[in-house]
Amino acid sequence: MSILLGCVADDFTGATDLANTLVKAGMRTVQLLGVPRKGLKVPEADCIIVALKSRSNPAAEAVTMSLAALDWLRQQGARQLYFKYCSTFDSTDKGNIGPVADAMLDAIGADFTVFNPSFPTNKRTVYKGYLFVGDELLSESGMRHHPLTPMTDPSLVRVLQRQTRHKVGLVQYSTIVKGAAAIRTALDDLRKQGIRHAVLDSITDDHLMMLGEACADMKLVTGGSGMAMGLPANFIRQGLMKSGQRATLPKVTGATVVIAGSCSVATQGQVALMKKDHEAYELAPMAIAAGRDVAQEALDWASTRLSEKPILIYSTATPEQVQAVQDKLGREHAGSMVEETFGKIAKGLVAKGARRLLVAGGETAGAVVGALGVEGLAIGPEIDPGVPWTFSISEPPLALALKSGNFGTPDFFTKAFKLQ
Ligand code: ADP
Repeated sequence: MSILLGCVADDFTGATDLANTLVKAGMRTVQLLGVPRKGLKVPEADCIIVALKSRSNPAAEAVTMSLAALDWLRQQGARQLYFKYCSTFDSTDKGNIGPVADAMLDAIGADFTVFNPSFPTNKRTVYKGYLFVGDELLSESGMRHHPLTPMTDPSLVRVLQRQTRHKVGLVQYSTIVKGAAAIRTALDDLRKQGIRHAVLDSITDDHLMMLGEACADMKLVTGGSGMAMGLPANFIRQGLMKSGQRATLPKVTGATVVIAGSCSVATQGQVALMKKDHEAYELAPMAIAAGRDVAQEALDWASTRLSEKPILIYSTATPEQVQAVQDKLGREHAGSMVEETFGKIAKGLVAKGARRLLVAGGETAGAVVGALGVEGLAIGPEIDPGVPWTFSISEPPLALALKSGNFGTPDFFTKAFKLQ
């Protein structure tokens, strides 16, 4: 198998976001959790994304991880490479965006790439090299208070220049709107001036499509999810991929469970609605703290109820209830205890025959996927914006829907299974 696009993503949810963008643009996409072990059987795909957890690591560590991922993707025959970071350009003066991009360019023997975190759908835009979050400059947005990567300078040219010894340039909006040919000329001019990194303006998806076209022959492209939007069309134009491709993911049958560890407003509504006409088990954090084997209790409860009709196991609670638990146990401890319990429950459920799992909550999903030993996911159709069905690369194969807390319509939990 030879892939068209090989992506290195600096965190898991960012990788999922990118996967979703590429699937919608017609690429059969697989997301791997870290650099895969030797011998892992990866399904046929046009694009593979290696999801790392390297955004906030020391730069040298992030570089080592990213190069390992890059190396593996090149071995899969990737025609083009992509480095995905956050749409708010999360980084510090030490990195990791500059150092990782520089190391990747050196590794593939290239001397030029582009940088563009813009993602208009999520209100991230770049104008004259300044990054906007909604109506505010990056440095005036909540990102200025980020605990790990506070962004206090809105100029991407300056931010990136502090992370690299190579020259940083800019292709402005006035050129972008002229289309792909003009952009290509501007990129060539920068390169001839000895500039190695070009920040790109873009405000709309149309700009991203033109930028994607202009970067058709670039070995390494870097950006948020948005910048990748225009790349699949190049492969279609080059006759390497058919348009409107959809991965044919096998239909998974078997016992069906919803696990909700998110306490977000959307999940509270989804839990309340599902409880009306489905069996539900409430997981009590204080019982876990008291030393009861709550995972076993939940599994005993589930074992007589498992079927294709979904059942619900949840810890979802109101802010007041959560506060009361956190006051007694501490926020971190309460969270990790509940996550660990859900991990054990998920593992036990699969051992009892569960094959379709919907998990609500980002951290909760991470804990469940980890406990199940899932090494990768083939990305399927979207259920609601930002939440696709996925098919796990694990034994046994599972249908998994991993939902961030606040996503999805009120009937998401039951609607999802009708679409699988
Ligand atoms: P979201 O996507 O909504 O942020 P997460 O799963 O990422 O959801 O985070 C929810 C956190 O709250 C997890 O760490 C989870 O273990 C914890 N949690 C879930 N239920 C409770 C509860 N009833 N009391 C305290 N903490 C809880």
